[in-house]
Amino acid sequence: MGPGGTCFSTTETSPLTKLLPPQICGDEFQAVLLQESKANSPSVVKPDVAHRLFNWLSWGPPPSSKCYAALHTCFPGAVPGSVVVKRSISALEPYEMTGENTIYGQSICPDEINNEVGDLATLLQDHWGEGFPMGGISGVPFVGRTGFKAFSHHVPDSGSIFILFGPHIAIANDGEIGKYARLGQNESSSACGAVLAAYNSCSNETEPMDLQQHFERQTSWLDMQQDFLRHKIGERLEEIRSAEQPLGKLASVAYDLVREKVEGIINNDFGPGHLVLLGGIQINMPSPCEDHFQPLMFRVMQKNKAPVDLLPTFSHAQFNGSREVQCSDLFNWLTWAPASNSKCELSLRQHFSGAVPGQVILLRTSLALKRLGVLPENSLYGQSICPDEINNENGDLATCMKTYWGSCFPMGGISGAHS
Ligand SMILES: [Zn+2]
Repeated sequence: MGPGGTCFSTTETSPLTKLLPPQICGDEFQAVLLQESKANSPSVVKPDVAHRLFNWLSWGPPPSSKCYAALHTCFPGAVPGSVVVKRSISALEPYEMTGENTIYGQSICPDEINNEVGDLATLLQDHWGEGFPMGGISGVPFVGRTGFKAFSHHVPDSGSIFILFGPHIAIANDGEIGKYARLGQNESSSACGAVLAAYNSCSNETEPMDLQQHFERQTSWLDMQQDFLRHKIGERLEEIRSAEQPLGKLASVAYDLVREKVEGIINNDFGPGHLVLLGGIQINMPSPCEDHFQPLMFRVMQKNKAPVDLLPTFSHAQFNGSREVQCSDLFNWLTWAPASNSKCELSLRQHFSGAVPGQVILLRTSLALKRLGVLPENSLYGQSICPDEINNENGDLATCMKTYWGSCFPMGGISGAHS
């Protein structure tokens, strides 16, 4: 498919080339990636063609960076939040779950960096509807069985439930795990602050905390969630300390805490519909990357039926090692483009060589303009396109542009010609 479908190199000689997908395959490119990884990374991470594309879309860090190495060493299989949204929605199509018949719940840490525009939780809420927050600090569902019972009683008749759960941890530009540069602060701070504080507190204690005694003394009622974390992390302190990447292991232990409690409070007693659990570790990334997510559970459950494991939905391993992989295959995997060699794709390639998905245009133009200081805060957006409603649907280029740039001055009449 021209630039969208074949292997070619990117030469940034004109603004237009910034819109064209990078060369993502071939032995030469793989060799360059491997060389970069060896030169700059603390440990060699296998080059990945999908990661290269994610970086080009400004979702992921450069494959040669320390941030990339830390991300994929500690959290193998992690993908940008947008990928999780696209792939999970696509995988659930056979189950006929919609925003109308499904309620959404989440058990994630309330930290505001998990709830920004474009974050996984926000994108899932955009699709499934506003959520029932089940998580306390760290993401553990402190609402308990009573909270889940209340939530599940809100499901529409014969409807379904979708739950996102997991802890979060940050990675800084230099690859340091647990550090995040928050808006308006000169110094980076901890994320997840609660989990790291619990770990540090346990590390400094001479004896593990006896939670029973602690509660009996009634000194802890003002900090119950943190006491729970300290107690539970304390039980696995040696395992965390002795790990090659202790903070990566800490995030994994925090995931276990969240998962165990989620599995302990949920049930399918609410009706014949589906209960979908999407669990993993959220990774807060430095700008301009998207926050990532390491998927560890994607399960569909239904009363009196065996659960269905959909976790392979997120694997893009099939694109590695293939000399034939094309950008259009990855765009299709992201549900952005028709399948390679389908009649639709062949027609698109034949008549509109170089066509790329609308989201690619937005991501690449906004990134290029940001570098020139052209930002939504100092710019107005206008468009001269045909008013046909099929040009203005959710996810269309014009809609994405309006969301990014702000309100729009419509200049186009029918056909798109401005009057
Ligand atoms: Zn947190």
